[in-house]
Amino acid sequence: MADERYDAMVIGTSQGGRFLPGDLAEAGKRVALVERGNLGGVCVNVGCTPTKTMVASARLAHQARRGAEYGVRTGPVSVDLAAVRERKRAMVTGARENYVSRLEKEGLDVIQGEARFTGPKTVEIALREGGKRGVTAPVIVIDTGARPRPPALSGAQNVPILDSTSIMELDTLPEHLLILGGGYIGLEFGQMFRRFGSEVTIVQTGPRPLMREDDDVSDEVAAILREDGVTVLTSATPDHVEEAHGGGVRLTVRTPDGERQVEGTHLLSAVGRIANTEALALPAAGIRVLDNGFIEVDEYLETSVPGVYAMGDVKSGPAFTHLSYDDYRILHANLLGGEKTSTRDRVVPYTVFIDPQLGRVGMTEREAREQKRSIRVAKLPMNGVIRALEAGETRGFMKAVVDAETQQILGAAMLGMEGGEIMTIVQVAMLGKLPYAAMADAIFTHPLLAEGLNSLFASLDA
Ligand SMILES: Cc1cc2nc3c(=O)[nH]c(=O)nc-3n(C[C@H](O)[C@H](O)[C@H](O)COP(=O)(O)OP(=O)(O)OC[C@H]3O[C@@H](n4cnc5c(N)ncnc54)[C@H](O)[C@@H]3O)c2cc1C
Repeated sequence: MADERYDAMVIGTSQGGRFLPGDLAEAGKRVALVERGNLGGVCVNVGCTPTKTMVASARLAHQARRGAEYGVRTGPVSVDLAAVRERKRAMVTGARENYVSRLEKEGLDVIQGEARFTGPKTVEIALREGGKRGVTAPVIVIDTGARPRPPALSGAQNVPILDSTSIMELDTLPEHLLILGGGYIGLEFGQMFRRFGSEVTIVQTGPRPLMREDDDVSDEVAAILREDGVTVLTSATPDHVEEAHGGGVRLTVRTPDGERQVEGTHLLSAVGRIANTEALALPAAGIRVLDNGFIEVDEYLETSVPGVYAMGDVKSGPAFTHLSYDDYRILHANLLGGEKTSTRDRVVPYTVFIDPQLGRVGMTEREAREQKRSIRVAKLPMNGVIRALEAGETRGFMKAVVDAETQQILGAAMLGMEGGEIMTIVQVAMLGKLPYAAMADAIFTHPLLAEGLNSLFASLDA
């Protein structure tokens, strides 16, 4: 089989990667885009889009139950999970169609199949409709993402275990959902299903959920979830799982106080993600992977093989759609003759879509102290923000870390109503290298949540 020659090949479709093949094609290159699953990748099909669609249903159920607090009469609230799933499916279908329509470009061949390297610049594609195709290109971009990590748990093979994809396809509500993992995926699903009406227990190995955050932030997140009726077990390491008498699952966990058992009707594993690299047969191309299985890249996203790049989750580091998109920007500039850019000094924001949201950018207080920086920390409870009081959403706090010498903002954690949006305002100030006083003194519209930033930063001068 002679290899078909292209100018460039992208393996995997994603939100970040969707523009690159088209841009290369528009620049006159012949491009192959290979996808083994649904076009659009994780974000559109089984990640951001469906989860945030379902989070919206969960929030509405929660707010409807709070109607009386606002003087609004509602009847008993219950959730039709099949209808929630229909809404989610419609949203995903729409997003995917929009995605696919952008791939119709002259010079861009979309090939549905699984790619496997047979040499540094050659790939064999096992076609979805059967048969194989050999492709070669001087520039190859690997954008194959990651998938749920199976839990390291004895007995796991004997019980049904949901992951972040299959849980969104349930059409009846779990009576009691056990969740392994207190990272953002576990927390988003935990609060969501509690609001749908399930009993929920989150089992977290570490002493707090969201272990990368400052202790006060993750403690407050745990308190919020507990207030919502979610059981959050911390310092609890799952050891074994088996079928419970009468159906469901029984989980054995190790805690500092000894072993204990937790029973539920359903089990969701949200213990992290592993890189989609095995099918690629990377050793055949000489592409190095790190000990954690993710692809090694330099700051220009180039792998150990010149001309082969990796973008998105398949390389090590934070895994978000907006980072995959920024990887695209870097590759676009570097492959299409723009000013050379790199991943150096990138500020990576993220938002945990629990309610209230946790918006995060830059350093945590812990990181700043570990770096022995001279810092000042500002904190403002959301019940000190007029807009939050008016809206009846006063849970959480705003927190910012400021460099005591330069007066610049090093990081922020906005745990509160629209925390992601408020964090973004701070992020923009950080990008513009504004001193914190600019946030303290800015005129923000009354009564916006942003006004809280005046108070937050002014508190450093109090
Ligand atoms: C439940 C959940 C919620 C999330 N929510 C958010 C959020 O709110 N915000 C956010 O920023 N991020 C979120 N993420 C993360 C986000 O989805 C990912 O960071 C993003 O999709 C990464 O994109 P990517 O470029 O790595 O490619 P991916 O989207 O992972 O796509 C990779 C594609 O490559 C294909 N592929 C793999 N191997 C091969 C092969 N050998 N041959 C051909 N094709 C192959 C796969 O089928 C897949 O379609 C969420 C993820 C999950 C699971």
